[in-house]
Amino acid sequence: MASDLKGGDGLPSHEAVRELTAAEAEARIQALRQEIEHNTYLYYALDAPEISDAAYDSLMRELKALEEAHPQFATDDSPTKRVGGYIEKQFTPIRHAERMYSLDNAMDEEELRAWMESVRKLYGTLPPLCCELKIDGSSIALTYRDGLLVQAATRGDGTTGEDVTANMMGVADVPRALKKDALDALAHPERPLELRGEVYMPKGSFEALNLEAQAEGRKQFANPRNAAAGSLRQKDPAITRERDLATFMYSVSDNAALKLKGQWELLQWLKEAGFHVNPDVALCQTEEEVIAFCSSSLEKRNSLPYEIDGVVVKVNDFALQDAAGFTSRAPKWAIAFKFPPEEKTTLLRDITVQVGRTGVLTPVAELEPVLIAGSVVSRATLHNEDEVHRKDVRVGDTVIVRKAGDVIPEVLGAVITLRPEDALMWEAPKTCPSCGMPVIREEGEAQLRCVSIDCPAQALERLLHWVSREAMDIDGMGEEIIRRLVETGRVSDVADFYSLSEDDLANLSTGRVNKEGETITLGHPTARKLMSAIEASKSRPFDRVIGGLGMRHIGKNTATDLVEVYPSMDALMQASEEELQEVHGIGERAAASIWAFLRTPDNVSVIERLQAAGVSMAAVSPSEDALPQTLSGLTFVLTGTLTELRMSREEAADQLKARGGKVSSSVSGKTSYLIAGDNPGSKYDKAVKLRVPVLDEGQFKALMDTGEPPVL
Ligand code: NAD
Repeated sequence: MASDLKGGDGLPSHEAVRELTAAEAEARIQALRQEIEHNTYLYYALDAPEISDAAYDSLMRELKALEEAHPQFATDDSPTKRVGGYIEKQFTPIRHAERMYSLDNAMDEEELRAWMESVRKLYGTLPPLCCELKIDGSSIALTYRDGLLVQAATRGDGTTGEDVTANMMGVADVPRALKKDALDALAHPERPLELRGEVYMPKGSFEALNLEAQAEGRKQFANPRNAAAGSLRQKDPAITRERDLATFMYSVSDNAALKLKGQWELLQWLKEAGFHVNPDVALCQTEEEVIAFCSSSLEKRNSLPYEIDGVVVKVNDFALQDAAGFTSRAPKWAIAFKFPPEEKTTLLRDITVQVGRTGVLTPVAELEPVLIAGSVVSRATLHNEDEVHRKDVRVGDTVIVRKAGDVIPEVLGAVITLRPEDALMWEAPKTCPSCGMPVIREEGEAQLRCVSIDCPAQALERLLHWVSREAMDIDGMGEEIIRRLVETGRVSDVADFYSLSEDDLANLSTGRVNKEGETITLGHPTARKLMSAIEASKSRPFDRVIGGLGMRHIGKNTATDLVEVYPSMDALMQASEEELQEVHGIGERAAASIWAFLRTPDNVSVIERLQAAGVSMAAVSPSEDALPQTLSGLTFVLTGTLTELRMSREEAADQLKARGGKVSSSVSGKTSYLIAGDNPGSKYDKAVKLRVPVLDEGQFKALMDTGEPPVL
């Protein structure tokens, strides 16, 4: 049984950590912190993670191991020391009376046993441990005053959460009033009582919500956790009310608030008070009982109607909990045993080929749909031709698919013993499945590529890239709408977005029909929103325009480097291939790609039409209302959250750039100012060390208002 609890996710060994020199370790620590911060933001603020939980945990553990091996680089604001979370500006912040913590993790049985050993050492004996399922949802704190629900808050950054009272009022299983008998257990009836638990979305409701989103061309949620957090954190509580959210409650903010002895009693009391409490709990006396509970929970995982991602093991006795206390991010008396990434077998129905924006052909596994780690998986990338052969997967095979929490499912390989005789070896296409032109494989490249400029699949991907958040950020312009615009001939290249009229959009079919059998169109309210999003995109910074054009080898960072040297389209057009190679960050291949792109008549015509439509074609807007370039020559670095200004770091960077300032991602001797919001990262320490002037939010605001940096 215990072998079921395998885990391990390719963590660096301690040997690897020790082998790094101090300078290498410092650089790696900085890089890891930056990467973790970025993914923490995507996960908590946008409910849209880009990497799997296992990958995130792996980064975090590498950082922790490095900080332990090189304590001189450990800082109090490191993500290893903080509770991850964000407070969105649309919600009123609520300061928690008692901090809300995260949990430390045990990734496999060995780590769980090691934690129990440390508990045994701490108390001299292993105390009874209360084991509960770890519900994969979003933390919630509910405050009751005089027995009545008065406030609900998210965990936020642990110290401050978001006020979601109106939203939680719409969650059916949350009692508005505590049962009268339960009030007897309150130690201080006159004080507010804060109870905590998890808001989750049942698996079935998550699937229904995603089907609905798909039909309406809206973005789907990656998994039930993101769906629960996203549905809870709605500006309009009426939307939350429409979503099927439920709760399991499991703790109280302050053990002394109730006349109870421990966690087990608390769970019973929560039930009596009227809350939903998860029935799968065990009060374990021995290590083996804890392991057995984890094993049986793992087996049960798929049959439960809600998602769980592990088991939480807590020292049961409140007095013992209080004696152990907390680290800066987690209680010392509890651990989350995380389930290993989930693997399932399913049928490989076909291998299709997807054509990307730059013509790369990617083989995709078309799978018999299967529910893994909370979401239905029906497709998985096979990366390239070599990968298909290396994994030896054939159409008709039973394949093993792995998914860790969310995001990207992976085909691990085939179950060879189940291979049918007629399983088909995949052959890479000789021609592009979209345009039929011959494909090539360049020397040294793993990918096949379609080099036709008229390829419709590439055209669609280019349009999607242009409207994406990292490029022109045309809010609401989703794939379905773009497909229809292409089908109806309204849009064939990125410049066509700017000649659309409100009527064009309003009359566009959604592909659905009403009860009377009439086609449902987008309608004027949606069309108006899209028109203003298109209008807003015209003033995106020039580097985003360059990145948005989708030239091969030119990503977000290369576009920024390029624009620094060639701040306008005219200047860029005149640069020779050799001159382009001189630009920092631009190699031979990128230079050749830019040069060729700008000499292709179709591309030049698109650029001219974009320019005519008013899309920004220079780093500094040449229009009359351009801001005075008072910050030119100055380099800024941003860190922390600009809570008071309610501004993302990207928005702040845009503002600085609009005044001629340069924004860099790391602090060096050349940095003119560091702008530090709440919870600044390690950049702050480095700035102090290098004596770089630090501006707080107030000083940054003054700089924005006056355009002049303060004299410090
Ligand atoms: P966590 O999810 O590992 O554990 C802490 C949380 O568990 C608590 O705050 C509580 O809300 C919840 N919980 C559920 N059932 C519980 C129970 N019975 N008792 C007590 N608590 C219970 O930690 P976290 O800080 O919420 O999130 C960190 C995790 O989130 C990471 O380990 C990672 O897996 C994931 N994450 C992923 C990404 C990504 O990009 N994929 C980014 C950030 C975080």
